[in-house]
Amino acid sequence: MDKLIRATAMNGMVRIIAADTREIVDEARRLHELPATGTVLLGRMLTGGLMMGAVLKNESDRLTVQIKGDGPSMGCLVTSGMNLEVKGYLGNPEMELPLNEHGRFDVAGAVGREGKFTVIMDMGLKEPYVSSVPIYTGEIAEDIAYYYTVSEQLPTAVLLGESLNPDLTVQAAGGLMVQMMPGHDPMLADLITFRLEEIPPLSSLLCDGNSIHEILNMLFDDMDLIINAEAQPRYFCDCSRERVERAFISIGLRELKQLHEEGRTEELVCQFCNKRYLFSKEDIGKIITEISKN
Ligand SMILES: [Zn+2]
Repeated sequence: MDKLIRATAMNGMVRIIAADTREIVDEARRLHELPATGTVLLGRMLTGGLMMGAVLKNESDRLTVQIKGDGPSMGCLVTSGMNLEVKGYLGNPEMELPLNEHGRFDVAGAVGREGKFTVIMDMGLKEPYVSSVPIYTGEIAEDIAYYYTVSEQLPTAVLLGESLNPDLTVQAAGGLMVQMMPGHDPMLADLITFRLEEIPPLSSLLCDGNSIHEILNMLFDDMDLIINAEAQPRYFCDCSRERVERAFISIGLRELKQLHEEGRTEELVCQFCNKRYLFSKEDIGKIITEISKN
């Protein structure tokens, strides 16, 4: 079962989010029929986005995180929120790359070096808050850390790990995000950075059967670790025919009339879950009548 833990250490000076996201990443792989590199890239974005969504201030805030470089993935976008429901997609889900020179999935190559890492926070105001930083490494974890450090002046360390089975199903996936709150002791930040560099890769720890609880204890046991909450995150798409219809209408009355005249059935596919919505000639006719009334 997937899990997300909210914790603090050192009397609240350190904020920690840890997540086991094997099922979420595997669900994304299945829905988008992703090859290995795509699974790892979208998986890291989903886990990262989920952890970023977990530190939003209000229950109704929505977070969208996008990385868009000049690589063959054609960008990756995820959305999440405090409800821990996450979804996402790749611009080019069929993309695949050989392993990089370290024998690892070439996530940075798939992303590309030139481009932006963008965070959009919808807090129910007129305009959403949008903030972009240049792509830092394209490996995702460092990009998230860089974003918080530069854009929100919140020193942050992020670990993301994943491992695939030979049949490309997800063996393990998870993440850890550690943020230093204002007023922290710089020595403490150095100590935590050192520990995060010293532990084995998160993917190995998870594959070896360590729970994220155990990994947290390994790192913060002597730092007054307090677990504040535990919850089950999930991959969830809230698309509906009504919502897809609204997007369809936005192409404009002229285009709708043209489609209607051509008499074809239009198929719209949800980018987040690949669900197909069909609009027949009759459906399009009804939509035209409906919007002509207004
Ligand atoms: Zn959907």
